[in-house]
Amino acid sequence: MTGISLHDALRRWPLMGVAPEDSEDLRLKKVVLTITATSIALLALFWGGLYIHHGYPLSGAIPLGYSVISFSSILYFFRAKRFAFFCTSQQLLILLLPFLLMWSLGGFANGSVVMIWAVFAPLAALFFIDLKAATRWMLAFLVLLALSALLDRTFAAHARPMPPGLNTVYFLLNLGCGFILIAVMLHYFVKDRQSAYAKLQQSEVHIRELMLTDPLTGVANRRHLDARLTMEMSRQERYGPPLSVILTDIDWFKHVNDTYGHTVGDTVLKTFADHLASSLRTSDFVARYGGEEFVLLLPNTTIEEAIALAERIREATRRIRFAQADLHLTASFGVTLARPGETMAEVLSRADEAMYQSKSRGRDRVSMLAR
Ligand code: GH3
Ligand code: MG
Ligand code: MG
Repeated sequence: MTGISLHDALRRWPLMGVAPEDSEDLRLKKVVLTITATSIALLALFWGGLYIHHGYPLSGAIPLGYSVISFSSILYFFRAKRFAFFCTSQQLLILLLPFLLMWSLGGFANGSVVMIWAVFAPLAALFFIDLKAATRWMLAFLVLLALSALLDRTFAAHARPMPPGLNTVYFLLNLGCGFILIAVMLHYFVKDRQSAYAKLQQSEVHIRELMLTDPLTGVANRRHLDARLTMEMSRQERYGPPLSVILTDIDWFKHVNDTYGHTVGDTVLKTFADHLASSLRTSDFVARYGGEEFVLLLPNTTIEEAIALAERIREATRRIRFAQADLHLTASFGVTLARPGETMAEVLSRADEAMYQSKSRGRDRVSMLAR
């Protein structure tokens, strides 16, 4: 099916007592209950006529009376928008109708064909209200069932038995219509739950991304770095390829803020982060470690390769130009190699130490510290 699905069309239906402030969930409930109630009321008209036609005036009057009350309740709902009242009245009707009809037909032997409709009451409570309500309606159903068993002989004594052929036709019609309605209701609710679940999954992915991303620079944050470094270090312990780590810190960044303002400082940070990210392979990883410090993780990279990469990034950093400020950005780098059996803190503090060597040697350079 293309375009708007039936499901969407029903959700947008303007005539179902739906108010603009209703949640998606309530909207669907109102629409489905209105359609179900209208269908059952129309079917009851048909059943009433059928019973009267076959010479059962009392049994015909019950569904006809049901129809009248049900349509009134639907109209009242459209006018007053009282959904809770609508739910309860519909459930009460749908619970009582089948029992009254069965009793009028002479108890179980003659009238059990209409029992399927009473099952709607607890089912509808489950869909439209909640578990507690469903339990109450289920108990009410069981009480009426027990009452029917107790009084069955009395009802049977007054029965005018239905011809077996007619009984079979009624049974099939009841079962068919009841089953179709239950299946349609289930279909909409399962579909609704599925789309709600899909939305939940999407927002979970989004929240996870937010949790792991630094909002200013868009690269990974410290939390993400911790998780990734833990994973890379355990992988390195098992498979043994070298894992190099670079820690870099912008030189004289306080001066940038002081001279050009915090906004330009932020732009510089973002530009530097983009520059780092674009210098890496897809298997590498960059994270903002602190204010103007970043950590690069380089799996499958020897320390010599890591030093060469740090040198290339350092050189390229000097060539970055800014529209907002005439400043010449430089950064200092510390390179180290993670060793099996080390903790994450040990590796990062050694990279930090190497970076400080670069600072103390005059900045804008790369230093290496091996264990
Ligand atoms: P050094 O060469 O020794 O690293 O000097 P520095 O000035 O870069 O180092 P210092 O640690 O003294 O200053 C870092 C500055 O980074 C101080 C802080 O205000 C600034 N900073 C930290 N986070 C942010 C941020 O998110 N935005 C901006 N604009 N500045 C930040
Ligand atoms: Mg700095
Ligand atoms: Mg710093």
